[in-house]
Amino acid sequence: MQYYSLHNNAPNVSFSEAVIKGLAPDKGLYFPKSITPLPQSFFDSIENLSHVEIGYQTIKQFIGEEIPEKELKDILEDVLSFDFPVVDIEENLGTLELFHGPTMAFKDVGARFMARCLGYFNQNKEDKVTVLVATSGDTGGAVAQGFLGVKGVDVVILYPSGKVSDIQERQLTTLGQNITALEVDGVFDDCQEMVKKAFLDQSITDQMQLTSANSINIARWLPQLFYFVFAYKQLKSKGKEIVFSVPSGNFGNICAGIVAHKLGLPVKHFIAATNINDTVVRFMETSQYDPKPSVSTISNAMDVGNPSNFIRIQQLFDNNFQSLKNNFSAFSFDDKATKEAMKKIYKQTQYVADPHGAVGYLGLKSYGLKKGEYGVFLETAHPVKFLDIVEETLCIKIQIPEQIQKIMNKQKIRIKTKDYKELKEFLLH
Ligand SMILES: *Cc1c(COP(=O)(O)O)cnc(C)c1O
Repeated sequence: MQYYSLHNNAPNVSFSEAVIKGLAPDKGLYFPKSITPLPQSFFDSIENLSHVEIGYQTIKQFIGEEIPEKELKDILEDVLSFDFPVVDIEENLGTLELFHGPTMAFKDVGARFMARCLGYFNQNKEDKVTVLVATSGDTGGAVAQGFLGVKGVDVVILYPSGKVSDIQERQLTTLGQNITALEVDGVFDDCQEMVKKAFLDQSITDQMQLTSANSINIARWLPQLFYFVFAYKQLKSKGKEIVFSVPSGNFGNICAGIVAHKLGLPVKHFIAATNINDTVVRFMETSQYDPKPSVSTISNAMDVGNPSNFIRIQQLFDNNFQSLKNNFSAFSFDDKATKEAMKKIYKQTQYVADPHGAVGYLGLKSYGLKKGEYGVFLETAHPVKFLDIVEETLCIKIQIPEQIQKIMNKQKIRIKTKDYKELKEFLLH
């Protein structure tokens, strides 16, 4: 498969080149040259297919010859080693739980897939790749865990001091080996700026191969399409039309869902549910794209003012606003509404939703499910990752799962970093 830059000013590249580069030299996001729908027989017999087989059938055209069938299936076996259950919440409304992986957020699948692809491409190379990533919370943990011990890859994670939860910080700082955490004196936007600056700094890129592990990287982004297919597999026998509501920040997850739809997955409608960082919601009202600086909320993994992947979504609808509108809606909710929704879900069903999932639930309510439809909101993180806010809102105690328990007593190791100069010194040391 060839990938082109959405800025249309860089050479086409293969899958491996796109993964290693992350972003095209003209700063555009890579996008597949073509998307070929799967045969109807795939969807007709999906209930007989394993997760690995579904993963293989849906992703293979995006990879092409560069990873042979056996190796690709081994990678998928490793990546998809946990469950993705749909849990009924109300009549014709359920949640797709994506938090059963090692760091208990949905980014585990993308991070692990990307790590194993990079590891595969790098196995016989002398040169190392350095993954440089800024995190507002969950990305860093998933990337750290996904890349831990991968040969030929070093990982450097920048996170804003005091702005991530205790559990999130432990997930970044307690692993060691090829993972280094830099605690930046600033906010997430400062971390992001420093990372961007490093990618453009020739005195660094002449010395080392840098790549990103955000959802701009196709190997992080594309495997997220599996979730939507796994949900369909579980819901098919209900005979309803499926509406997905996706808590969205950088819009990578929902964009991958739309790729699944392009592959032929029957989906009635996509809903992007956001917090008050509502750039896309405003775009859907006015057709003007007017990004704003991000604002802090209790669903902090979605505090994004200029979502990188929205340009890919527009491309998937041939930049046709009407066609986008027919298939896609967006709604935004403030923290107060989010907490009310968490309480309501808990009161009605005893289900504990995290703030991101609750925003997704609200998306389905604003859309208004019709007869014959089944609504699914994606539960993108386990409530324990937002322990304080969930316990305080619902007045309950949450049991700490084993994955998290294990890191609670480990020592945090991180390097305090003041500014770009210190980042650069660290990278070139
Ligand atoms: C990253 C994240 C999101 C947002 O996903 P995007 O693909 O960036 O839209 C939502 N919820 C949680 C818990 C996340 O970690």
